Amino acid sequence: MRPEILYELFKPLTALKGVGPKLVRPLAKAIDGEAIIDLLFHRPFGLHDRRARPTVAAAPLGQIATIEVTVDAHHPGRSRRAPYRVMVSDATGDLALVYFTADPEWLKKLYPVGARRLISGRVESYDGVRQMPHPDYAVALDQADQIPAVEPIYGLSAGLSARVMGRAIRTALALAPALPEWLDPALKQREAWPDWHTALAQLHMPRQVSDLAADAPALRRLGYDELLSNQLALALVRRRLRRPRGRSLAGDGRLQARVEAALPYRLTTAQTQAIAEIAGDLATPTAMLRLLQGDVGAGKTVVALFAMLIAVEAGRQACLMAPTEILARQHAQTLEPLCAAAGIRLAVLTARDSGRERRRLLTELAAGEIAIAVGTHALLEGEVVFRDLGLVVIDEQHRFGVDQRLALAAKGDSGLDVLVMSATPIPRTLTLTAFGDMDVSRLVEKPPGRVPVDTRVVTLARLDDMVAAVARALDDGAQVYWVCPLVTEAEGLDLVAADERHAHLKARFGDAVGLIHGRLKAREKDQVMTRFAAGALKILVATTVIEVGVDVRNATVMVVEHAERFGLAQLHQLRGRVGRGTRPSFCILLYAPAAGETARKRLEVLRTCDDGFVIAEADLAIRGAGEVLGTRQSGIPSFRLADLSSQDELMAMARDDARLILERDPQLGSPRGHALRILLYLFERDAAVRYLQSG
Ligand code: ADP
Ligand code: MG
Repeated sequence: MRPEILYELFKPLTALKGVGPKLVRPLAKAIDGEAIIDLLFHRPFGLHDRRARPTVAAAPLGQIATIEVTVDAHHPGRSRRAPYRVMVSDATGDLALVYFTADPEWLKKLYPVGARRLISGRVESYDGVRQMPHPDYAVALDQADQIPAVEPIYGLSAGLSARVMGRAIRTALALAPALPEWLDPALKQREAWPDWHTALAQLHMPRQVSDLAADAPALRRLGYDELLSNQLALALVRRRLRRPRGRSLAGDGRLQARVEAALPYRLTTAQTQAIAEIAGDLATPTAMLRLLQGDVGAGKTVVALFAMLIAVEAGRQACLMAPTEILARQHAQTLEPLCAAAGIRLAVLTARDSGRERRRLLTELAAGEIAIAVGTHALLEGEVVFRDLGLVVIDEQHRFGVDQRLALAAKGDSGLDVLVMSATPIPRTLTLTAFGDMDVSRLVEKPPGRVPVDTRVVTLARLDDMVAAVARALDDGAQVYWVCPLVTEAEGLDLVAADERHAHLKARFGDAVGLIHGRLKAREKDQVMTRFAAGALKILVATTVIEVGVDVRNATVMVVEHAERFGLAQLHQLRGRVGRGTRPSFCILLYAPAAGETARKRLEVLRTCDDGFVIAEADLAIRGAGEVLGTRQSGIPSFRLADLSSQDELMAMARDDARLILERDPQLGSPRGHALRILLYLFERDAAVRYLQSG
């Protein structure tokens, strides 16, 4: 249970004075959260510096200035749409304060003619006249202290002004309690870090520019707190997962041999090696915690199957968890015939299944009649009980959080073997944040006979040519993915873009064009995907729903619109959807001409390179860690306060710290341990704490 000291912080936004039902939505959208704590963790991305006090004539254009002026005259707009101008001046010149929407009465009160005012805002020039549109501050001279010297800038949303955001944050800040210190005193002293409450206040009410610099002690502390909570939670998972399980999982090879005989291909050396490493782990008395990394198309699924077969040979059950319904079903489809060849049963279990069929499955699972279960996070639900679960495989696991991994770990009561598979090529530091310390197997080589995907970078101006090329490909019997731009989902535009393209292509190609996007219900997504896989649909217009895992061999053309809006690694993942068979495949990256030369150059990397790791490195180099990490799609947990691009050394410190903490105080029972529990709750690692109490 969440400690009482944090109650206030986890109340909904409406609990804040001044935040009513109208404000809640834009506010929640801007901070990507619904509780007061989310407001406090909404990190400013920059800073307005209002210290410059130039004269009107000397105020640099495009910059914020604070200027002392006299009010000369009011010029209401001639029409309702025309702006209202308040003319002000100092000894050096005139300045127009421009208001597009404002109540004239209010303006007259704010700016009595003849009065002296201190105003602060951005100075611009329009038709040779200096102006300041909507000053941020306008106060009488004796109230100069109402204008902050520096002011944080926050990400906002439609219907939410900076002023309102600022007020909400300050109200929240006033509610924030002082918390017991969880930091190691020696560390805190060495780094000269302030306590949590002070650090938070400095984040939102900086006094000087350096307060918000990347190396400001307060910011480093807040970042460290978050990383420590991440590493501590991961360490708890690891401790639970890696504890001795008393029995080893040794297979006799009988099922593996049958499946190998049934495979239409031979395992690659890399696959055989990975399977051997996994078998080695399973045979030891410590539970396995292994990451299987391999580029898209490297053939991870069959490795997973062999791992599961070993568990089944040892008399246990295994499950494979996929991040989406579509993927779960697809895995099941691939694996089912192979399991049949081995004479064992496999079942799919997703949130969608319900009723009698589901109850039957659950009974069979509990009785051990089903050897392998494939599913989504529905496998985590309490009512899903295995007779004797031995191994869990998590596919594309970066989409699962620490909490979900914990829930999984709780399913096996005697230490569970876990294999996670990822196609995301992640640099070492970042691996730490997502996986903690894990053993790693890599599939470095791809199955033979793959023809590299012929990748072209083409301007969107040639869209019509591309549609014609798609028509020719369809005549040749190919199927086509058409991926639409990644526009922030919050704006609902991704849907519009895909929708429009769908209509456009449908006008030309008729009913053979399907549409799939994130907002379809799981069942609808499945239907569309199934029809595409069966060849009933020839063109699939999609948002990035198809990004991971999906395998339709006959699909040999992929068109990506506005490719410049995607990360390179993500494009590489997308491209991995084609080139799965032996027929030549194409990937056409359409970029907006306006995106310019840099965008084209960036995309060229994909044209010439087919190695996910090299591409990820290039992406990181071109865009910088911050941006790569900022995207949800990158697969790295996104941190709210920590900034891995500038604070990555804190990560290793946090890892060592977490290890040491658990060594000294395994149950977090000391006073510092109790403070650390609060830290875990603060960053919503509730599951980790619960786990600690029951473990
Ligand atoms: P990923 O690593 O991206 O999950 P998959 O497991 O989906 O890759 O495999 C990609 C494709 O390669 C599948 O169609 C699979 O049947 C095929 N494949 C896997 N291993 C081999 C192999 N050793 N030889 C030939 N094809 C293989
Ligand atoms: Mg896969």
